[in-house]
Amino acid sequence: MAGKLYLVATPIGNLEDITLRALRILKEVDIIAAEDTRHTLGLLNYFEISKPLISYYKQNESTRSVELVEKLKEGKNIALVSDAGTPGISDPGEQIVKTAIQEGIEIVPIPGACAFVNAIISSGMSTREFCFLGFLSAVKKERKEKLEEIKYETKTLIFYEAPHKLKNTLENMLEILGDRNIVLAREITKIHEEFIHGKISDILGNLEEIKGEFVIVVEGNYQSKKEIEIKNLNQMSLDKQYEFYENQGLLKKEIIKQIAKDRNVNKNEIYQYFLEK
Ligand code: SAM
Repeated sequence: MAGKLYLVATPIGNLEDITLRALRILKEVDIIAAEDTRHTLGLLNYFEISKPLISYYKQNESTRSVELVEKLKEGKNIALVSDAGTPGISDPGEQIVKTAIQEGIEIVPIPGACAFVNAIISSGMSTREFCFLGFLSAVKKERKEKLEEIKYETKTLIFYEAPHKLKNTLENMLEILGDRNIVLAREITKIHEEFIHGKISDILGNLEEIKGEFVIVVEGNYQSKKEIEIKNLNQMSLDKQYEFYENQGLLKKEIIKQIAKDRNVNKNEIYQYFLEK
C-alpha cells in the first residue's frame, strides 16, 4: 500500500504553536522532507523527535519531488515541513503535491501557523475578501508591474516581504497604490510582536526603528476602478466624454443617457447641450 504525504505546519516563531497532531505525525512518519534540514533538526530536537531528514527546497524541488513520490509509492509515509509556518505558502511544497496527486498518493494537510492568516485577522482590515500576493518580485520593473496590475483591487491585499526590501517595497506601493492605510504585522507570535497601523508615508518616515519579519496588509482600493473611470470621464469636457463613448460603439441616444448617469444630471440637460452645438 502506498504511503501518505502529510503537509505539516510548524511554528512561525513561538514553539508552542505546534499542534498535538503535528507532533504525533512527525513522530509516526518514516521520513521528514524539510526545506532546511539543519533548521528542522533544531525543532525536532526541541520536541525530542528523531527521524531521517531529506532536504526539499526550491532549487531541488522538481527532482526531489519525483524521488520522494517513489518512496511514497513504496509505502513510506512522508511529512513535508518548511522552515516556518505552512508548507506551500511562499515556501516549497506545490511541486511535490502536484506530482504526488498525479501518482494517486493521498495528501493529508496538518493545519497550523501561517503568517498571513494571523496578520489579516489582527489587522482590523476587511477579512471578508482578500488577495494574498506572497512576495513581490525582487526585480523593480516586475514589482511595479504587479502593483499596477492590482491597484484597482477592492479586496484587502496581503504581502510577505524580507526586512531589507521593506523600504523599497513601501516606496513602490506609495507611488503606485497611493497613500493607503496599511498594517505591518511584525514578529507575529514572537517577543516583539507588534501591529503597526498607519498611512504608507507615515510608516516610511519611521522605518529606521522597525526591525524583524513582516507581513504587509494593505487596505483595498475603495475607490473602485469604475468609480475612478467615471471620475476621470467627468473631468473631461462633454465633447470628449461623448467621443469616448462613441469610440466604444454607443449610439447618440445611449451616449446622452450614459453621460447624464455619470454626471448625475437630467438627460435633457445633456441633450440640450448637444442640440445647441
Ligand atoms: N510558509 C510561511 C507561512 O505559512 O506563513 C511563510 C514563509 S515565507 C518564506 C517567510 C515570510 O513570511 C517572511 O518574509 C514574512 O513576510 C512572513 N513571516 C513569517 N513568519 C513571520 C512572523 N513571525 N511575523 C511576521 N511575518 C512572518
